[in-house]
Amino acid sequence: MENQYCLTKEEYELFQTLKNKHEENLKNSKNYYAQNKDKLLAKLHEMVSCPNCGSQVQRNHIYRHKQTNICKKRALANKKQESDDE
Ligand SMILES: [Zn+2]
Repeated sequence: MENQYCLTKEEYELFQTLKNKHEENLKNSKNYYAQNKDKLLAKLHEMVSCPNCGSQVQRNHIYRHKQTNICKKRALANKKQESDDE
């Protein structure tokens, strides 16, 4: 074994086991996405209500929706209504 990183044999073995574990985890997570592709995509296309304005938005669009003027205006209107009620 070439000891170019000044590791002891134990350290080198520990490093190898950690590396193997990491690679295995990576493979497993890739498999997870491959196996549950339909489920995950369906989840992304699920309709959820926007926490800011309460309108129904697809889950994968919600981040972009929050940046839109429609959402901001509605959120402002909702806030105004709430303060009017008080
Ligand atoms: Zn919104």
